[in-house]
Amino acid sequence: LTPDEFRTLGHLFVDAVADARAGIGRRPVRDTVEPGTVRARFDREAAEEPSPLAGFPALVEAVTGDADTRWQHPGFHAFFPANASLTSLLGDLLSGAAGAQGMLWSTSPACTEVEQAVTDQLARGLGLPEAFTHDGGGGGSIQDSASSAALVALTAALHRAAPDPGTGWRARGVTGRERVYVSPDTHSSLAKAVRVAGLGAAGLRTVACVPGTRAMDPAALRAAMRADVADGCVPVLVCATVGTTSTGASDPVGAIVEVAAEHGAWVHVDAAWAGVAALCPEHRWVLDGVAGADSFCTDAHKWLLTAFDASLLWVRDAAVLPAALSITPPYLRDAASDSGAVVDFRDWQIPLGRRFRALKLWAVLHGQGLSGLRAHLRGHIALAAELARRIRDHDGLELAGEPVLSLVCLRATAGDAATRNLLERVNADGRVLLSGTEIDGSPVVRVAFGSVATTRDDLETLWEILIARS
Ligand code: PLP
Repeated sequence: LTPDEFRTLGHLFVDAVADARAGIGRRPVRDTVEPGTVRARFDREAAEEPSPLAGFPALVEAVTGDADTRWQHPGFHAFFPANASLTSLLGDLLSGAAGAQGMLWSTSPACTEVEQAVTDQLARGLGLPEAFTHDGGGGGSIQDSASSAALVALTAALHRAAPDPGTGWRARGVTGRERVYVSPDTHSSLAKAVRVAGLGAAGLRTVACVPGTRAMDPAALRAAMRADVADGCVPVLVCATVGTTSTGASDPVGAIVEVAAEHGAWVHVDAAWAGVAALCPEHRWVLDGVAGADSFCTDAHKWLLTAFDASLLWVRDAAVLPAALSITPPYLRDAASDSGAVVDFRDWQIPLGRRFRALKLWAVLHGQGLSGLRAHLRGHIALAAELARRIRDHDGLELAGEPVLSLVCLRATAGDAATRNLLERVNADGRVLLSGTEIDGSPVVRVAFGSVATTRDDLETLWEILIARS
């Protein structure tokens, strides 16, 4: 494409995106489709001859338009949101256009330094301690996912636990005696990170919760760590979750930090969904205890208006990730890197290459301002409070716990079968999509407000459907 052809086609594509978003609420949240439907619409071989791109948006609609789950639909309240605001799409366009590959500072100083600047700005907006900023000796980076962030934190923890260049983790790998501590509700990405790091199932220790709660019990953590040390094992990392995926519960980060310190274990705070709420001073409790943690992760691609992928990982010590991950073959040797004056983000992540993800986040910060982001979050939190109030007053439904931020967990008062039935019937309506979980073996329906387009009207629609089906 020439730039002029791009301009003409670009207008067509942008029109298609705008039309799709404008009409999304009139479509079902989730299409019902048989497996293989979309693939069957493709020829076995790619076309030999080129086709006009002007027809591409219509082709995509014809091939995929009846086989989607619309995460940007105003009635999408399942899982956690995956905000792809139009603002961030505009930023992403610039990022794609730049075509930068920011593995080293010198391969795109702009990519690196915008990322440093926006993660520092966001750290301050959230109220993270200054130590987590690049200015303050730590720093933020944009990872592809909270799962990768956890794996990156684990590599740093493994290195810190055995740093000797000749005999430590980087030289000899794991011994099989390293232990990682989670709660029963910690996200499965931690279990995956433990497997990927080669620790096997035995490397993961699931610590009990404080009785009657879903929060890790620091006393149980202390006992588990002491028992492991007595057994010749090495406590390497504790993951404290703020806002679990299932119910939004939080672990006591401050107390966990104290216990972990007894054995020098790394504390990673997984606040993938809830962490962004710290932008609102009234919800800054999500950062309680984080000042003592080693790393903190929250996903801008969940609830912070930024299109996937944009997972924010801050560390309190900028040296730890390069120390664990840096490997420099001759073809990556670089004068700026050798000077020590720059950050090379390749050393802060698993892959080498990286996109200019910070542009879409910058676009969001620029276009919304912190006040716009707070309004976005507060709007959903208010919807959750209102839904919870209505559930309390309704005979057929009950809360499975107090709402956390924008997440409401509920049940049918008639019991487990009725709750399962409720989820199925509500989703069958097509105007909303909820997801389920289990608490102590019993089914629970989750309502996670957070979609970009969700408004008060969508609460009314959801409520109408909930009471009609309960
Ligand atoms: N941690 C928590 C608490 C989550 O809720 C999720 C996803 O919902 C993840 C981690 C994984 O997020 P990602 O898809 O960014 O890896």
